Amino acid sequence: MKFINFLAILLFLTSCSTSQNYHSVDNRINSKESQKKPYVLLISIDGYRWDYTEKYKPKFLTKFKETGSSVKSLRPSYPTKTFPNHLSLATGRYPVNHGIIGNSFYAPTMREEYSLRNREAVTDSRFYLAKPIWVLAEEQNLLAATYFWPGSEAKIDGSLPSYYLTYNHNTPHEDRINTVIEWYKLPEEKRPHLTTLYFSDVDSAGHKYGPNSKEVKNAIIKVDQSIEKLNTELSKLNLPINIIIVSDHGMANVDSDKFELIASEELKEEIKLSYKVIGKGPIVHFYVNDNPQTNTISLLERINKNASNFKCYDNKSTPKKLNFRDSERIGDFVCLANKGWSIGLSKGHLPKGNHGWSQYEGMEMHSILYAKGPNFKESFQANTINNIDIYPMIAKLLDLKIDHKIDGTIKYSKELLK
Ligand code: AMP
Ligand code: ZN
Ligand code: ZN
Repeated sequence: MKFINFLAILLFLTSCSTSQNYHSVDNRINSKESQKKPYVLLISIDGYRWDYTEKYKPKFLTKFKETGSSVKSLRPSYPTKTFPNHLSLATGRYPVNHGIIGNSFYAPTMREEYSLRNREAVTDSRFYLAKPIWVLAEEQNLLAATYFWPGSEAKIDGSLPSYYLTYNHNTPHEDRINTVIEWYKLPEEKRPHLTTLYFSDVDSAGHKYGPNSKEVKNAIIKVDQSIEKLNTELSKLNLPINIIIVSDHGMANVDSDKFELIASEELKEEIKLSYKVIGKGPIVHFYVNDNPQTNTISLLERINKNASNFKCYDNKSTPKKLNFRDSERIGDFVCLANKGWSIGLSKGHLPKGNHGWSQYEGMEMHSILYAKGPNFKESFQANTINNIDIYPMIAKLLDLKIDHKIDGTIKYSKELLK
């Protein structure tokens, strides 16, 4: 009896250690044609500012950038936040067109709030309005895998990636890397040709300690070493893998004195009666409720009359170059802080570093694009490009047809390709 117990425990333990830690969609295989295509590994280092490589000199990334293809900087889309930009990278569309217009927002037609911290929301396909590159791949019989990416846990246009994970902020780098290597060791039929990987460390350190801190430097070194390790292991497999390293936005130092209240106490009470308010820091959204007591136009005039370091707009009149208007999800009006300023209806805690401001006011919000592999030019640098232009470049690398509307163009990003 004891021996049987022992056997049962042993069996259980073996099944645990071999059980996969990711979700996989059954019955998918690469078509014969797809199997001949190269591989793309898209790595995102959240909050890695465009000049961090020169500033902090990480060993692997410095060499990767110098010997591969890169751009001077990657211009993010507005607002320069994590979810809007990861979706712009993945869909080639501006946030107003892919639907994820903020890390948190309200969708009036659905009568639902979206937030990156709400599992029910991030997995709800109704929020996502554009086709991610992994869905484009799956539709054309090319397998895709995501080791974390905003939007990858929702069925979009009816598809999930063949392999994906439930987001866990604390997953060690080692687990992330090992799983990606495991995917590249799958038999050809099951091996993903498009894979994403994500690291949050640099962004987290940037918020907590500011972009000029030793903590940011340490986070960069940690990510640098992990990517180097991954690269070393992948090189041993002799597969035609193109590695693309991007970030979603930059990071600016926050001065705690640069905070401005959007409204006086009295006006704040009036606003609260008529609007749902979402956001603080660089951008705040106001959604009129079912029983408004206030006229939005006159309220806007009253707020803007006293505003020194921000401006509020109705959602049709935001600056044109931001491509951030005409979406009900922006709110009936929205307030945009000037560079480096934080705004809100109350002050609360301010981080040491932040992002979310316009990508056209200086370069602090700019991010990176470095790429290396059989299909990329060597030791080549192009000028700044927009992050919506990466989607058509990846589609070209994987020979995927795009027959729907996107906002990006391949005109500039194709310069990086051989
Ligand atoms: P923020 O700096 O506020 O724009 O957002 C960064 C945070 O987004 C990170 O610290 C992550 O914890 C979180 N995040 C990144 N990717 C995901 C994801 N796929 N699901 C949920 N949260 C995520
Ligand atoms: Zn981010
Ligand atoms: Zn951040």
